[in-house]
Amino acid sequence: MTEMKARLTDQAWQNWFEPVKPTSLEGGVLNIAVPNKITKEWIEQHYKETVQDIILQITGDSMDLNLQIVPVAIKAGAGTGSGSTGQNTSVIPPRNRASNDPYEDIRLNERYVFETFVEGPHNRFAKVASKAVGESPGDTSFNPLLIYGGSGLGKTHLLQAIGNNVRNKFPDKNIIYVSSEKFMMDFISSLQNNRSRDFNAKYRNCDILLVDDIQFLQSKEGTQEQFFHIFNELYQARKQIVITADRTPKEMKGVEERLISRFLSGLMVDIQPPDLETRIAILKKKAFDEDLKIPDDVISFIANNIKKNVRELESATIKIFAYSSLTHMDIDINLAKKVIKDILGVKQSTTISIDHIMKSVAKKYRISENEIIGKSRQKIIALSRQITMYFARELSGDSLKSIGLRLGGRDHSTVIHACGTVSDKMKNDDGFKREMDTLRNQIELNTFE
Ligand code: ADP
Ligand code: MG
Repeated sequence: MTEMKARLTDQAWQNWFEPVKPTSLEGGVLNIAVPNKITKEWIEQHYKETVQDIILQITGDSMDLNLQIVPVAIKAGAGTGSGSTGQNTSVIPPRNRASNDPYEDIRLNERYVFETFVEGPHNRFAKVASKAVGESPGDTSFNPLLIYGGSGLGKTHLLQAIGNNVRNKFPDKNIIYVSSEKFMMDFISSLQNNRSRDFNAKYRNCDILLVDDIQFLQSKEGTQEQFFHIFNELYQARKQIVITADRTPKEMKGVEERLISRFLSGLMVDIQPPDLETRIAILKKKAFDEDLKIPDDVISFIANNIKKNVRELESATIKIFAYSSLTHMDIDINLAKKVIKDILGVKQSTTISIDHIMKSVAKKYRISENEIIGKSRQKIIALSRQITMYFARELSGDSLKSIGLRLGGRDHSTVIHACGTVSDKMKNDDGFKREMDTLRNQIELNTFE
């Protein structure tokens, strides 16, 4: 860590590494606890290699890094379950990580609570029903509660909020939070290991069963059968069951009729895509919670462009923050435009042309493109030429020969030499390295337009 500090600016150190803690080392993998998603993504994208480099220097071993989000002050909760459906924000206690034991589960993510769930007309009913269930599990007529809606609209958040609420209010209640995929894996592995008894005991003894993404059980007859029995037992014992799905039960193909009619016997609530006001409210809340200052016009610009998916709204705030701290650009509409392009995947082309790189470099160093192509040996021009070659090699996908040709009919060995010079300079000069990192981003993000 000391070594890392020496390699970074104070600002970068404080932003990213101060709150980070190595937790354990298992089979060549170093587990590191980070406080939130932003830090995790940022370190993974920008510092992973440096960290690995340092570890290699110190220990002589190369190691993989595994960053785990561990919010400060996690409670040792009774909540169990798995987020195998792409919940990269699940809180995985370090000691559980390397285990393949299907009986060990992932805890509830404590970020997913009702307080952080912004209410709007699109989700109001779902939230009210979920809250009622979280307050009096098994004691409402909402059993089972089925929450359905498109991807990224907050189903998992609500489901876990129910679990978190129950855990806080009734610490003795046994909660199982599980994706249907995980349920199936548990089931299959119990068959393989002759642990059916454990499997049954585990699920039948719970007070509240939260099953995420039930649509996954489509066409898995054996697992459905098992689920059906567990469902009935829990239901008869007045235990609470909450299920999420990305479609209505009627739209689920390959799910047995009797199971569907069970789902329909309780309350079904849907979540629709949020309206504009709610999208703005969600963005403001996310920015506030993560301590990001995003101007109002940028917020409303994002909200006007990302319409269908809250996960994408969230990802926009994270990216904007990340880009602006890397490129030191102000958070403004231009930056937001680029981020949104990125998220919605409407980038015109994924390859970056030599011309675009040359233009960017020329703008950055305030020289003309003709000077880059020309013969001048003036220091800044020669260096700009080499930098153009370097990024052309890195980003354009063109051959050394065509890069040389485009840059004033130079020979491929000149290009190789230029790339070597630039990369050496980056290794030896931190300031230059940072300048190049910024430039690379500017080229990629097209901020010189
Ligand atoms: P789903 O399970 O429906 O695909 P998630 O529950 O995983 O969606 O939600 C995606 C992300 O969006 C999560 O990080 C969640 O916290 C956030 N989110 C969704 N709806 C809201 C909301 N109404 N208020 C705050 N955050 C939300
Ligand atoms: Mg989900």
